Amino acid sequence: MKKEIIRGYLLTLSAGLLAALLLAAFLSGQIYTNALKDRMKATLVLLASAAPTEADELPDFVSAMSAQLSAADEPLRIAVLDQDGTVIADSSSSGAQSGDERGDRNEIQEAKQGGFGFDSRRSQTNRTRYMYAAYLSGSYIIRIALPQQSYRIYFQLLPLLFVACFTVGALAAWVLARRTAKRISEPVEELTATATAIAEGDTKRRVPPFEQELGELGTAFNLMTDQLQQKQQETEDKNAQLTGILEGMQDGVAAVDDHSQVLLLTDRAQALLGPVNPRLKRLDTYGANYTKVARLARQAMESGQASQETLHLSYPQPRILDVYTGPIRQQEEPGAILVIKDVTRLKQLENLRQEFMANVTHELKTPLTSIRGYLELLKSSQRDEETRQQFYEIIDIEADRLMHLITDMLELSEIENRPALDRQEAVEGCNLAEVSREVMAQLQPIADEHQVTLHLDLPDPSLRAPAAHRRMRQLLTNLMSNAILYNKPGGAVWVTAGHARDHFFLRVRDNGIGIPEEHQARIFERFYRVYKERSRALGGTGLGLSIVKHIAQLYGGSVQLESRPDEGSVFTVYLPLPLPQTPVA
Ligand code: ADP
Repeated sequence: MKKEIIRGYLLTLSAGLLAALLLAAFLSGQIYTNALKDRMKATLVLLASAAPTEADELPDFVSAMSAQLSAADEPLRIAVLDQDGTVIADSSSSGAQSGDERGDRNEIQEAKQGGFGFDSRRSQTNRTRYMYAAYLSGSYIIRIALPQQSYRIYFQLLPLLFVACFTVGALAAWVLARRTAKRISEPVEELTATATAIAEGDTKRRVPPFEQELGELGTAFNLMTDQLQQKQQETEDKNAQLTGILEGMQDGVAAVDDHSQVLLLTDRAQALLGPVNPRLKRLDTYGANYTKVARLARQAMESGQASQETLHLSYPQPRILDVYTGPIRQQEEPGAILVIKDVTRLKQLENLRQEFMANVTHELKTPLTSIRGYLELLKSSQRDEETRQQFYEIIDIEADRLMHLITDMLELSEIENRPALDRQEAVEGCNLAEVSREVMAQLQPIADEHQVTLHLDLPDPSLRAPAAHRRMRQLLTNLMSNAILYNKPGGAVWVTAGHARDHFFLRVRDNGIGIPEEHQARIFERFYRVYKERSRALGGTGLGLSIVKHIAQLYGGSVQLESRPDEGSVFTVYLPLPLPQTPVA
């Protein structure tokens, strides 16, 4: 930069000097010529006044006058011509001779018209440049000629003068230019270095104060950098905030541009769709799941419409995802945003609900159809008393089953809907020996009916179960009645309970018909029965074990099953023990 400033200075100076010198040369040439002409005019007038009238005296006159008026380096030639331009006398011996024709010369022509005439040209006789001046005086024309020697010398000196002036000027300009260049280029270089450093990430860097007008530039630069930094900080904060929100979302979020390049892909989205290779940048290169969502993104970009589609994935886990896709319109290039929602659980619940509704309808319909059927039979024709009694009994059993079913369903719904109350009761707990006695007394007749013996083994009679009394009673009733009903004549049921480390357990074992392996996983589902007809015949609702599982879960516990067909089953309920209460001081 410095070099440019210096070069600029020197160029400007040279051009200025040259122009000034040319102008000076032209003007001084003019002045010299005018002065010369004036001098020659005066000489001509003088000669005219002193010239003899006799023509034959004229040669002597011109010689004498020439000798008198000539300077050492400037001989003055004098000639007298008649009006036709014929030379009468000439002071120069090498010049025109008497009788020569000079009427065609410019100065003669001019003098003839207006008194004086001038011309500057090389002499044909001695090749010297002369200034010629002619004057019409009476019947003669007097012409004088002066060599323009000094004028020529002046022009020969001009280039030398130019070189000298230029050298001095250039030196001065160079010194001046260096100082100016330093003053301008140093701040500019500092500005450049600072801007580069800021661009490379050193956002704290600022320029030092400069002098004069560049000082204002430096201040403006620093102010601009401050504002830029502030804006950048704001943008970074907003980005962090947005990323935090997006990453914190339960749903996965992804965004792509027109070329399927990933603009955003949250961790949650990767957890749902599968891990990605970070070296790849296109959404459709991450695997089959991503190819599907990339297709949805493309459709959204092309149609400009938001849409929703459900995807069933088998990898990385079997999942059902609802993918909401919409075009991004704010930016110049089109893009699409995807919100990926895991609806696996929701769909499962939905399926369960539908299944449950179908089951409930079916379960309610069966006894009701039976009741209506028998009522129709009773109404339609005359029956003997014995048959009528049989029909009444069946209606009674079916109504009972209906009652059971509704009671169990209400029980389930109550457990599901009022957990807080039950947990509060669990803190107090209940005496298990008491609960067991009540249940045994209730079930003993049924056990007798099915020829099943009941055994209770409670090493600690004061043992407390961490559950509400009525819930514990319901749980034990359901497990024991199953153990009696799905048993064989001569079979037995063993009940035991205790505390082990941090939990309570209750075990109900039987040596009955057992449950085949393939049914064990589903046995706790609502209305699931292994032997449907046997369950119905025994007045089962298919909800007993479901209630057991829900009661256990209500207190944060679980149920475990071990069973072998024809050998029997063991149901164990585990309930966590409440933490010992710290007495308030
Ligand atoms: P249900 O009202 O039919 O007894 P549950 O939910 O109590 O309904 O039991 C579901 C099914 O599990 C029963 O239908 C039965 O097939 C089977 N089951 C339950 N307990 C036992 C057991 N102790 N031994 C054999 N099978 C059992």
